[in-house]
Amino acid sequence: MGYFGCHLSASGGNAAMVKTALSIGANTFAFFTRNPRGSKAKKEDAADAAKAVQMLQAEGFGKLVAHGAYTMNLCTADPEARAFAAEVLEDDLRRMAALPGNFYNFHPGSHVGQGAEAGIDYIAAALKKALAPGYPVTVLLETMAGKGSEIGGRFEELKAILDAVGSPDVGVCLDTCHVYDGGYDIVKDLNGVLAEFDRIIGLDRLKALHLNDSKNPFASHKDRHECLGQGSLGIDTFAHIVNHPALKDKPMILETPNELPGYQAEIALLRSLES
Ligand code: FE
Ligand code: FE
Ligand code: ZN
Repeated sequence: MGYFGCHLSASGGNAAMVKTALSIGANTFAFFTRNPRGSKAKKEDAADAAKAVQMLQAEGFGKLVAHGAYTMNLCTADPEARAFAAEVLEDDLRRMAALPGNFYNFHPGSHVGQGAEAGIDYIAAALKKALAPGYPVTVLLETMAGKGSEIGGRFEELKAILDAVGSPDVGVCLDTCHVYDGGYDIVKDLNGVLAEFDRIIGLDRLKALHLNDSKNPFASHKDRHECLGQGSLGIDTFAHIVNHPALKDKPMILETPNELPGYQAEIALLRSLES
């Protein structure tokens, strides 16, 4: 049985998220470590985190996939803003230690005209520093749609960051909408895309997936998520994904345009696709 979940609101605390996840049939979930469009983080509550850890274990959850704020751009051009983003990353990893052994995924960043190479250097430097204290969390770089100056639209860019960081504690989260928008045809040739991922990055680095259909056609570099089966990826693509031997044991997180009932229905749909 696969690990399926969705983004949940973190406002009620960690244990409340586990309860919500259980109520919709999820056995993993994602949450924003702080306001997704700002930088404010919630007050820490060690007792709540301990309770959540206990529940996650008792209920057999897969690894959680926390998500860094969209506003955290580690390779922005302004040095002060860049330093602030690096501090946010460090603080997020420190906070994640309350939920040990889980994943922390983030968007690598946008180089805003400085060039991908400069951007990759900044991202790697911030990661190296944030990983130095050795918190029990694996950091994931998300595959991006390649919108604007986004880094991570190509597997080669993610590989360059992984190489520059040089730590086994960094992996990749594959977003189905993003890779398809980015020009990797997982509809017609999922095996071919995974072979390319393996050749360039290594499938051992693939730790989690975001399951989203796309509102836009192949290689559009737009990044607009759609509900499963209602976009250009189609339900057969997700049937292939949830049953693929290289993917089926990974946490799979829905980021589709839904409220909880819609997520519950999509999780049931995913389970019905499992063979
Ligand atoms: Fe994301
Ligand atoms: Fe995503
Ligand atoms: Zn997206």
